[in-house]
Amino acid sequence: MNDRQKMVEELMHHPLKSDDEFLFRCDQCGECCKDRADILLSPFDLCRISKALEEPLPDAMDKYGFLFLGETSKFPLVSLVMREDNGRCPFLNDDNRCGIHMYKPSVCALFPLGRCASRQNDRTDIFYILQPTDCGYDDEIHTPREWMGGFNLEESEQWFAAWQDIVMEISERIREILPKLPGELGNEMLSGIAQILYLRYHVDQPLLPQVKENGILAGKMISMLENTIMTYQKS
Ligand code: SF4
Ligand code: SF4
Repeated sequence: MNDRQKMVEELMHHPLKSDDEFLFRCDQCGECCKDRADILLSPFDLCRISKALEEPLPDAMDKYGFLFLGETSKFPLVSLVMREDNGRCPFLNDDNRCGIHMYKPSVCALFPLGRCASRQNDRTDIFYILQPTDCGYDDEIHTPREWMGGFNLEESEQWFAAWQDIVMEISERIREILPKLPGELGNEMLSGIAQILYLRYHVDQPLLPQVKENGILAGKMISMLENTIMTYQKS
């Protein structure tokens, strides 16, 4: 477990529900929009960015997303790419305001809150943690619901829960099957899963049913490979 994972684990002992209070005041300095490699984009975030910019989803992914494999999870993840010349987010305006404010990624809309999911008895519970920061002030009272303002907390939570279920299930299955596949086939599988989970959307249509369908499709793809391995082992 690295230092960040240890910190998150510790903070998870102090969970906040949607209407619990926390203290923070943002002075809009824009520092949290610079030199960040940890702003993960879910397909929900990518679809919203694609819609906001009126760019096809694959183009938005190419321009603003960096696809990589989670070190422990082995799940394909996408992070927001900062500008090469000055390390600023490509959406950060000169006045330090977000240029896609109403469509900004969930990680940004929540900061300095983090959102977590715990799964027990087939039920996914969502809660929040207040990440330690050395910015802003602690002289305003907020709740996660009110902090998310116009970002539609309910829709965002439903999406997060569905996405977390997919991440947990698919990453477990990837970790099981990956060591059994020759390198090239393993890479092809990961690329196929990434395509299905991040790019197979009509951004103008409801996204929740689409991500659930894509999760099932990615699972079927892994099942096909599992069956092929079993057939090969028997022959
Ligand atoms: S959250 Fe913190 S770093 Fe980001 S703009 Fe507000 S005060 Fe600055
Ligand atoms: S998307 Fe907006 S809030 Fe997020 S890092 Fe970029 S400028 Fe900042």
